[in-house]
Amino acid sequence: MKPTSPAPGYAFISLPERVDRQPRPPHAAHDRRHEATYSGTLRLTWLAEQPIHIGTGFKRLVGDRNARAILREHARLGDVPCIPGSSLKGVLRARFEAVTHSCFDPPKHDVRVKIRSSTFNERGITHAILNADAVRGFERTCRSPGPLCPACALFGALNLRSRLVVTDARPAAPTLDSYTIPEQFVPNLHHVGRLRVRESDNVLEIQRLHGRKFAVGRDERPPPSNYAHAAAQRQAQPQRLEVLPVGTHLHSELRYTNLTTAELGGLLAALGLAPRSRLKIGGGKCHGLGRLFLAEHTHRPRGKHDDEPLDLDGCAHAFARSPACQAANLARLVALHGEDC
Ligand SMILES: [Zn+2]
Repeated sequence: MKPTSPAPGYAFISLPERVDRQPRPPHAAHDRRHEATYSGTLRLTWLAEQPIHIGTGFKRLVGDRNARAILREHARLGDVPCIPGSSLKGVLRARFEAVTHSCFDPPKHDVRVKIRSSTFNERGITHAILNADAVRGFERTCRSPGPLCPACALFGALNLRSRLVVTDARPAAPTLDSYTIPEQFVPNLHHVGRLRVRESDNVLEIQRLHGRKFAVGRDERPPPSNYAHAAAQRQAQPQRLEVLPVGTHLHSELRYTNLTTAELGGLLAALGLAPRSRLKIGGGKCHGLGRLFLAEHTHRPRGKHDDEPLDLDGCAHAFARSPACQAANLARLVALHGEDC
């Protein structure tokens, strides 16, 4: 069957042919410094190139009696809005996974999920299901002391501590703004892979995943009146979000322990530092939110009293030549998350 065109707002990066799980390398540990590995701290200054919304699940009512609205709150540290280190690390991990032969968290398989599609709904097809074969071998099953994929070896797995610590990113001048986007739905399962209609029970069956999903989306918001119209047609409510405004600078630290040159290179790719790219983080990424750029960094090796520049080219080169690297996927990630994602 001809695949339906994926909804705008996201793109896919192919899965590797296989997950490359290897016995745990001795340097994937915290017990001591290992030879030919690096430890240190990167001080990072991030720039919000689009408004950023990291949701907490909390909402509050704003406005007066004539125009009440629900505002979805942004994450805070105490009273100060921030990007939690866990959110940043999650994005870095997803990007590192995409450019290496790593495992991932696929959508649930063998569970019937309701779909919104006039084409299919008209034909009486209301549910989709992901075939177990579509994800076999890619599921996140790495656990120490068993073999580990490149991402689990670096970012941690069951029984294995991560060799990276990412601190909360705090704004230099904390302010919050509000921003309205259309109501967000859980993405339609039938957009994530190659599919066929299973005749026995009239369900759409995803037989093969397009890959890992990455959000892309410039701000192409129609005027609010069109918005309201589109929302009414879909019986959807526009969502008002608390956001860090464009131009916000945020500071965080990334501490790393016992990384090989190739691992450091993979991390620099995930950070969008070498090669250069942007991160997309938080809510509303398909609607012109979430683009984060690593504007500045300094680097201090562990045990040193002065900053030393990182050999960006050397690390990037070592990563590109390492068996962990998926060069085509790295090129795709950089192309997807360029200046206008
Ligand atoms: Zn893994």
